Amino acid sequence: MRKIFFLVIVLISTHTLKAQENFRYARTTGKLPMMAYSLGEDRLGSAKMNIIDTNILIKIFDSTNNMYLVQLAKNHTAYLEKKYTKLLETTQLKNVYLTNAFTVKPIADSFDLVSINLTEKLPYKIWMEANPNKIMLQLYGVQSNTNWINQYTNTKAIKNMYFNQTEDDVVTVTIDLSTKQHWGFSTAYHQNTLQIKVKHTPKPSLENLVIAIDAGHGGTNFGTVGSNSKVLEKDYTLLFAKALETVLLKQGATVIMTRTTDTTFDNKDRILFLQQHNPDLLISLHLNASVKPEIQGVSTYYKQIGFKPLSVSILKRMLDTGLKEFGNIGNFNFTLNAITDFPNCLVEIGFLSNKEDEEKILNPKFHQKVAQSIYWGIKDFLKNSKDMSAKN
Ligand SMILES: [Zn+2]
Repeated sequence: MRKIFFLVIVLISTHTLKAQENFRYARTTGKLPMMAYSLGEDRLGSAKMNIIDTNILIKIFDSTNNMYLVQLAKNHTAYLEKKYTKLLETTQLKNVYLTNAFTVKPIADSFDLVSINLTEKLPYKIWMEANPNKIMLQLYGVQSNTNWINQYTNTKAIKNMYFNQTEDDVVTVTIDLSTKQHWGFSTAYHQNTLQIKVKHTPKPSLENLVIAIDAGHGGTNFGTVGSNSKVLEKDYTLLFAKALETVLLKQGATVIMTRTTDTTFDNKDRILFLQQHNPDLLISLHLNASVKPEIQGVSTYYKQIGFKPLSVSILKRMLDTGLKEFGNIGNFNFTLNAITDFPNCLVEIGFLSNKEDEEKILNPKFHQKVAQSIYWGIKDFLKNSKDMSAKN
């Protein structure tokens, strides 16, 4: 008995030692590196944490087939696909990285810029909170040397910014928003300064808005197939997208389409394309399928809590089309829902595996109805989004 106990102690201590010696350092690389919470999988991959910038210094702790376990801070880990890492030869780096001055100021008339000076490009997690609206940021492997937070008084989206050293090696930054809705933010390093661009509330009329419409699938990616008609999802998402484009153009909006023909377009490339065009809103259109043919109805999806209101407004109006409700789904793992840059909503219009829904989906008149309903959903969202203090 005593022997076994001794053996266990030895095993634990050698394992710990081995793990420490086995740390490898790397920098993030590739197309939109995505950190994941766990090795759990569904058909859309591991539960996404957030996209991080490239060239960030990370400490690799363990490895599975295609994932590294990354030590973000003493008590924080994340998973990252190996293809997003470039291993470094260095084995010993500085023990302490520091935060320096922070600045918050408006840039032009479209966003407020938060700048956080650091001594290295360090990993971070950033997320939204709603009611009251905030952006929360955790910086990992860092200690505070911030004695200067310069905040200009003419910011339009940011009310206040402060931080707390919440753990020995974690600095938590809170950005309080003054806007009634989250209009999105983007996060990237400029040298060793982490910059967060927080969008102002746009003028809430369609003539002033740029709306992106994303027809799901396309080209070699067929999506699902109609159980009776055998029609392809990719063809019908495009028809719905075009119907919506017509309605929005008529209302004076500027429209960006991720595709207008039957082309293959990877979802990550769609994100890069959309980020370049910087729309105010994104609507992704898909058709659903289930192994149970009786399951039917419309559903809308979001990941970021700040973007829930858009998906609820659209779902409520979609029920006017006669579709049954399949619900409003939060924390969804769809790639295009992961972005924080602008409010986005995935609409799964109906089930191609359900006879009643399929008949509707095949009918061109129904395409018009859906387009009108989404338009009304956007209008409702805009009406509810008006800032009390907005001059526009
Ligand atoms: Zn789909």
